[in-house]
Amino acid sequence: NADAAMYRAKEMGKNNCQFYAHEMNASLEEKLALMEGLRRAVDENQLRLLYQPKVDLATGRVFGVEALVRWQHPERGMVRPDVFIPLAEESGMIVAIGEWVLREACRQARRWQDAGLPPIGMSVNVSPRQFDDPRLVKRVAAALAEAGLDARWLELEVTESLIMRDVQQAVDKMRELETMNIALSIDDFGTGYSSLAALKSFPISRLKIDKSFVRDLAHSADDQAIARAIISLSHQLQMRVIAEGVETEQQRDFLVQYGCDEMQGYLFSKPVPPEEIEAMLA
Ligand code: C2E
Ligand code: MG
Ligand code: MG
Ligand code: MG
Repeated sequence: NADAAMYRAKEMGKNNCQFYAHEMNASLEEKLALMEGLRRAVDENQLRLLYQPKVDLATGRVFGVEALVRWQHPERGMVRPDVFIPLAEESGMIVAIGEWVLREACRQARRWQDAGLPPIGMSVNVSPRQFDDPRLVKRVAAALAEAGLDARWLELEVTESLIMRDVQQAVDKMRELETMNIALSIDDFGTGYSSLAALKSFPISRLKIDKSFVRDLAHSADDQAIARAIISLSHQLQMRVIAEGVETEQQRDFLVQYGCDEMQGYLFSKPVPPEEIEAMLA
């Protein structure tokens, strides 16, 4: 626990170290209570998936969705993933939760196809401990087989920090997934420390511009420069590029002007239950 806290404090920058330690103490009891509850969340059917559309900026079409997990807590109501995913990661419960997410997302993608809707991509977030699990590749294959979903519709989202910890190991695992025909994207791009040299050795099909660079896009010359640089980098490396957290038409217009391929954000839709995706696609 102390290690995980230190690791995260470091990730947040040295200045936040004290702040983080304080937060930890203040919420330790709360944290333990949540962790305890999380143990039952999968078995007691308290997890839900919402889906957020990904839109092609050239055609305006929804070409995929991202699965985002929610915890319907019996007493606390909806718990956000920013709160419980780190706890699940810390305690190792992320492996079971991640497997549930993967299986449910694959089943949902297949249900939409069975309903006769135009097939779309399904993106699933994968956290470090899940990625490190030696059974990951088998679990992904099993989820696809069980759902009867063709691997070409599945994409896994990993973060920069995850793949940069051990580049060779990450390359090997990603190549295995690539061989299975599963696409990989880098989430929250620009917030970690990517080695640009390493980036080109990963079989990645898409970079996601982190929403922190999109938020002030209309006003910040720095964020405009960063967004343009990421778009250009993606294209130079033959990858697609998507912006997350697009909330205004102004932001979208900048992205279109800079040649960004795709977007995701409240401007088009927040994450919604599966029925609403069905209505959008129909
Ligand atoms: P993420 O993968 O980067 O997902 C994007 C987050 O931005 C989501 O928050 C989404 O609801 C939110 N978002 C989307 N559009 C907008 C917008 O226009 N403005 C703003 N301000 N926010 C927007 P959410 O659903 O709370 O998820 C937070 C994070 O939790 C995710 O970040 C991801 O890292 C993690 N997460 C969510 N579901 C899963 C999961 O099934 N497995 C794992 N391992 N992590 C997950
Ligand atoms: Mg994501
Ligand atoms: Mg993201
Ligand atoms: Mg994020």
